[in-house]
Amino acid sequence: MNSNKMRALVFNKHGGPEVLEHTEVGIPTPSPTDMLVKVHACALNHLDIFVREGIPGSHLSFPHISGGDISGVVVGVGTHVTEVQKGDRVLVDPRITCGKCSYCLIGESNRCKGKEHGNLGEEYWGGLAEYVIAPAKNAIKMPDHASFEEAAALPIAYATAWRMLITRAKLQPGESVLVLGASGGLGTAGVQIANLMGAEVYAATSTEEKMQLALERGAHHVINYAEEDFSRSIWDLTNKHGVDVVFEHVGKETWAGSIRSLANGGRMVTCGATTGYDAMTDIRYLFSREISILGSRGWQRQDLQQLSSVVWRGELTPIIDRVLPLENAIDGLLAMKNRDLTGKVIITP
Ligand SMILES: [Zn+2]
Repeated sequence: MNSNKMRALVFNKHGGPEVLEHTEVGIPTPSPTDMLVKVHACALNHLDIFVREGIPGSHLSFPHISGGDISGVVVGVGTHVTEVQKGDRVLVDPRITCGKCSYCLIGESNRCKGKEHGNLGEEYWGGLAEYVIAPAKNAIKMPDHASFEEAAALPIAYATAWRMLITRAKLQPGESVLVLGASGGLGTAGVQIANLMGAEVYAATSTEEKMQLALERGAHHVINYAEEDFSRSIWDLTNKHGVDVVFEHVGKETWAGSIRSLANGGRMVTCGATTGYDAMTDIRYLFSREISILGSRGWQRQDLQQLSSVVWRGELTPIIDRVLPLENAIDGLLAMKNRDLTGKVIITP
């Protein structure tokens, strides 16, 4: 192999898995504030499929490399880099922010309005390659004992769930939480984090097998919302009290039920709407129960830092379904597309 080249899974146009190609591309050169990371692990996300198929309104330049959840070792640094040095083991925060807009300046980086904001693997080349470049300020240094595979599992699913429950909903020990879509990547993270916080966890999912998995991962009660009206089940299970927090990302299909499931003073936190965004809100519940609806967008650096510390102290272990070499990354993407997974897929280039 030519020393200026790296193996990568690239695509040159939008489409299905057939547009993916294992090839060699030039190793990118870090700018003065960037680091070059040798990728040791890159987790797959549904986002990788959406980016490849084409997200309306986003314009990729080709060839493109997806994969936003990356950990590895710093092998090169730009001339102005002070945050890391060669040899450092790092978890890479995939969110690229401008660092100078009014939101970035007060630390609200996930609300960045700078035109360069985006994500590794989405607007920028990601980690389904031997190397990736990222701003050095995006590095979170990993302790020696920390696993690259576990670190790579964290940002997109676990940090999103962390921000929803801990930063936005301010979940307290002893409170009750309903986690919807509890067996998917995000929902699993929600169940684990809520359990870690000492909350009473109600998990809603759709099959017996998934209900069993949710129990194993920290849910105290499970509801099959393919078969029962989950807000009625919550009402019965909580003695007509409702839950303090609803972890919502399903959208239209569950929105009205989520609101009905809340106790007086309850908070619903949402980060997405996979079944549709034009849901109905019965406003009477908002004022009569003093309910709050909280939006949550991705995560900020401190969310990912808090989460990774918890993982590295051994208090939370991200669930990994399988670890595959880069050559088999397409198999991993297909398994994810077919929902044939019970945890993250990690690629090790
Ligand atoms: Zn900004």
